[in-house]
Amino acid sequence: MGPLPSELAYIPFVSVENMMRLVHHFGIEAVLAEMTDAVEADYRRWEQFEKTPRLASHSRDGVIELMPTSDAEAFSFKYVNGHPSNAAKGYQTVAAFGLLARVDTGYPLMLTEMTLLTALRTAATSAMVARYLAPAGAKVMAMIGNGAQAEFQALAMKAVVGIAAVRLFDIDPKASEKVARNLRDSGLHVTICANSQEAIEGAQIITTCTADKAYATILTDNMVGAGIHINAIGGDCPGKTELHKDILRRAETFVEFEPQTRIEGEIQQMDADYSVTEFWRVLKGEAPGRRDARQITLFDSVGFATEDFSALRYVYSKLQGTDFFQNIDILADPDDPRDLFGMLQRAA
Ligand code: NAD
Repeated sequence: MGPLPSELAYIPFVSVENMMRLVHHFGIEAVLAEMTDAVEADYRRWEQFEKTPRLASHSRDGVIELMPTSDAEAFSFKYVNGHPSNAAKGYQTVAAFGLLARVDTGYPLMLTEMTLLTALRTAATSAMVARYLAPAGAKVMAMIGNGAQAEFQALAMKAVVGIAAVRLFDIDPKASEKVARNLRDSGLHVTICANSQEAIEGAQIITTCTADKAYATILTDNMVGAGIHINAIGGDCPGKTELHKDILRRAETFVEFEPQTRIEGEIQQMDADYSVTEFWRVLKGEAPGRRDARQITLFDSVGFATEDFSALRYVYSKLQGTDFFQNIDILADPDDPRDLFGMLQRAA
């Protein structure tokens, strides 16, 4: 876990610039693939984590959330917002930072930007689930909602699941053009489509990643055929969904942490007895994943704290031997731990 902060008076801070350097150094697809494995490894030891639905502060325009978790060794939290109206103001819909700390001393280990890291970990989580639930040999993905998360989602599905083609749709054609431009050299075959219906033609994986603080209907039941995996990540807040209820009635639905997803996910539209499977149970062999080629599987993703924990620990492990961080003086460190006031006095 690295040296105790008392041996190291400063803790590493990973700025946005350094996060970008880190990703480029290791390569984005390698980072996405390794992060997928890191997220999965922690899902496989699900019972070791302290879990709670995130703390959400709602306002007219959006939500600000704190997402904590810990195992016996480390604690993490993320501060993240979700403001669909931000785009019109020239701001990010989702922006975040996070902290990793030791459980034994409570001392912080690393502070980092998490706007990029959230996009990476959300894509890694989508890919982790799709590699177990998507129909065998899935090659085509529809990507509905072509905002900040979109390229990360497509590249993780390529790196982890073997997707070769992406079909794009966004109500704003400029967003789709941006994704097509950014993925030009990715090796993915990219097609811009005129509507959702056209985008999902021939796709085995449908990712919905739109942002609107509303009960939206990005997909209706008659659009979705058999043998599809839906990766619904945009509906992640009370009052914000993307799928018509009837799709949920036909699908086998998998979630991260059920108590949080009941509040925030697509399933907020359903009665409390609507059956869902927490995905960790599939990994542990306690519940079936995809049962047959014609089934519709749905990952009702809202984003869960253990995914941030995995991403933070992954980044922390990658810092060793690099200069992708600055040391910050965030922890008062008097020579005599009880003489905090003396330290202040001497600084006069
Ligand atoms: P963004 O604002 O950058 O992009 C959203 C895109 O959706 C925009 O390009 C917009 O034009 C498009 N859109 C809106 N309504 C649409 C519609 N009806 N049909 C097609 N396109 C439509 O946002 P982002 O950062 O890409 O995030 C997208 C959503 O994903 C947000 O709701 C966010 O809260 C959510 N999210 C979820 C997770 C998770 O873990 N599940 C993680 C990150 C973000």
